[in-house]
Formats: sequence, structure tokens, C-alpha cells
Amino acid sequence: MINFQLTDDQLALQEKAREFALNEVLPISQHYDQTGEFPRKIIARAHKAGLMNLGIPKEYGGPDYGSLDSVLVVEEFSAACAGMTTSIYVNDLGLAPIILGGSEAQKQKWLPPLTKELRFVSFATSEPGMGSDVAGIKCSYERKGDDFILNGNKFWITNGNHADLFVIFARQTGSERHTGLSAFIVPADTEGLSTGKPLKKLGHRASDTAAVILRDVKVPAENLLSTEGMGFLLAMMTFVKTRPAIGAMATGLARSAMEYAINFAKQREAFGKKISSFQAIQDMTADMYARIEAIRLLTWKAAWMVDQKTDGNLANVASSCAKLIGAEDAMKIVTDALQIYGGKGYLEQYPIQKLFRDAKLYQIYEGTSQIQRYVISRYLFKEYNPIMKNF
Ligand SMILES: Cc1cc2nc3c(=O)[nH]c(=O)nc-3n(C[C@H](O)[C@H](O)[C@H](O)COP(=O)(O)OP(=O)(O)OC[C@H]3O[C@@H](n4cnc5c(N)ncnc54)[C@H](O)[C@@H]3O)c2cc1C
Repeated sequence: MINFQLTDDQLALQEKAREFALNEVLPISQHYDQTGEFPRKIIARAHKAGLMNLGIPKEYGGPDYGSLDSVLVVEEFSAACAGMTTSIYVNDLGLAPIILGGSEAQKQKWLPPLTKELRFVSFATSEPGMGSDVAGIKCSYERKGDDFILNGNKFWITNGNHADLFVIFARQTGSERHTGLSAFIVPADTEGLSTGKPLKKLGHRASDTAAVILRDVKVPAENLLSTEGMGFLLAMMTFVKTRPAIGAMATGLARSAMEYAINFAKQREAFGKKISSFQAIQDMTADMYARIEAIRLLTWKAAWMVDQKTDGNLANVASSCAKLIGAEDAMKIVTDALQIYGGKGYLEQYPIQKLFRDAKLYQIYEGTSQIQRYVISRYLFKEYNPIMKNF
């Protein structure tokens, strides 16, 4: 049976996130976008309110929210500020490999401290020479006695300058492609690990993005996640779990873009009439609403499949659909919303340009739109079972 009714607990969680986003995040979102400061204070408040590290299970002190619960929260936050949302919820990306691939001892050691105080976890697959092609990671490791020694450069690492902990993906020296990759928990204060200056970006300026440099970084064997050679699979399993959240971010941002556009259209006059009376403007807003409904449904479905632990590849494809269509439609919606603002949409003093800049990232990080299409088409050509059999 299909049921789109949220539970009372989910409605309460959504309301709590909405209030926090409207009262604490929205009023200062322009400030952090303009200054590029890291919003530590506000993130600390989100942490205190129990709106961070959503996926940490109860037995490790976390709120134990499912994927569907999480996307409700994330939509509200990103409707207020996409950059802060990325800063806050990248922890769930960093934590996922520990939750999915960590031993009981690793979970007991690394998860509870995150719930007690504000600590940041960064996820690092990307490098200066690769992002999409995860099997092409060059950052290397070698076993030396009870330790692994890591060398290489990571790039584009969200919250890199603020991370207390990194989950770093590296390749056994001399290995090839997928099978040689492993994942390690690396505390930020480990000797030999350093970070670069915050990278200046088009949008998401309230989130820090940095290079991470590893020079003979000694990681104890007990910090290896899962087993050697499982790094690629762990990264892919992580994305299945986290891509619905990008669909939710896209939904939240698109919702705000639509609301700004409607509000503007009700006030602006041209040819002696409110522009909201023009069919062309009404059509654009109607399309926005319909697309937002569609991407929210795709996001909820993907999140639900993750919660149901649906067969890996079907959840994988659903997550890619939510991320792909979410990102593409959010870009289209915010482009039309800016169009409704006319010339004012192009000015810094109006909020819509920030949303326009922020939306672009959804088509790039956690797998570009081209990579989501690759995931979906690979399923279609290899596994999809056609309904019409007689070709
Ligand atoms: C602000 C920001 C934050 C980020 N945060 C993180 C983070 O926290 N951790 C992390 O590990 N990474 C992070 N990333 C990196 C991000 O995941 C990569 O930028 C992304 O995966 C794309 O990789 P790339 O930039 O190397 O582009 P490339 O992989 O070089 O791709 C370039 C172009 O080619 C296309 N392309 C590549 N391969 C194919 C193919 N097989 N078929 C069709 N088209 C293809 C791509 O879609 C893209 O259009 C972040 C990036 C940004 C911009």
C-alpha cells in the first residue's frame, strides 16, 4: 500500500527543522554568503538542537533518524541557506562509511563523541586529478607493521579546514582501479596531514572547501574501515545512502526560489498590470510547483527505499534519479525565478542570485548529473527487465 502521510513524529521533526531554519538560518544567510565566514556558531546551535548527525544510531548516542526523516530536515534547511546546509549535513556523508563499514569497536570509539560536542567529519574521495572516476584515486597507502602510511592530495573537501576527522579513500601502492581502494579514519591532528586555504567559490560560500595534503601520514591498522580493497564499494554504498539528501537540498532551494518569484510577481508591475496577471509568468510558476512536487516525491521514494534496505542497485538507481532530477529541476526553477525578477534578479541586493549560484553545485558534487545518468543507463542496459517481452 502507498501512503504519503507523514507520521506525527515526522511532522514534528519537520516543524522543528522549519522553525530553526526560518528563525536561525534564513536571517543570516546573506551575511555568510557575502563574507564567506564559516558559520560555526549557527552550526553549534543546530547541533545543540539535535538537528545534526541525523544518521547516528541510538546505541551510539545519536538521534537515529532514517533517511526519510533526514530528507525532511534537509529540505527545510536548504530552503533557508544551501551553503550552511552543506556545512551541517556533510557530517552525515563523512559518517556514512563508518556506520556502513565500521566495526563495533570503531563505531563505539568514533560516533558517540560527535553527538556530545560539535565535531566535523569530512569525506574525501576527490583529488586534483579526479572526482567522477572514484576508481582512479591516486592517493596511496602502504602497510608498515601495525600502521598504514598514506601519501597524496585530496581536493574539494567540504569542511576540510574545520574537520576533526576525515574518512580518506586511498589506493594500495601498485594496485589498479576498483579493487585496490581502502578507506581510513584519520583524525585531523595526525602528523603529516595539512589543509589548504579555503577555496573561493561561485556559491555555497557558507561552506568551507579545501585541499587536504597527506605526507607520510601514519594511520593505525585499527582505523581501516571494513577490509582492505573494500574502499570503492564503501564509497558507492555511501552515495546510495546520501544522494537522496541532495534531492532534498534541491527541493528546498527550488521551493524558496518559487516563493520569492511568486512574491515578486505579485508586486511588480509592467504594462500597467501586475506581472502575476501575465499567462507567461503564471505558466512558469505552475511548472515550478509541479517540478517541486515531482522532485520531492522522487527524493522521498529514494529515501524510503534506503530505509527499507531495498536491494542495493534499485535503491542506488532511485537515489541517482532523485539527485539527477532534483539538481536539474532546481537549476531550471531558479533560472526561471530569476527571469521573473527581470533585471533585479541580476543584482546582488536581491536574494535570487544567491540561490542561482548555490543551485549549480547540486549538478556537480556527490556525482555530477552525467554520472547519475551513467548509473541509471547502466542499470537500463544491463539489468532492467522490460515489460514487453516479444521484441
Ligand atoms: C563545492 C564542492 C564541494 C565538494 N565536496 C567534496 C567532498 O566533501 N568530498 C569529496 O570527495 N569531493 C567533493 N567535491 C568534489 C566533487 O564530488 C567533484 O567535483 C565531482 O565529483 C566532479 O569531479 P571533477 O570536478 O573532477 O570533474 P571530472 O570528473 O573531471 O568531470 C568533468 C566533466 O566530465 C564529465 N564526466 C566525467 N566522467 C564522465 C563519464 N564517464 N561520462 C560522462 N561525463 C563524464 C563530468 O560530468 C563533468 O561534466 C566537491 C566539489 C565541489 C565543487
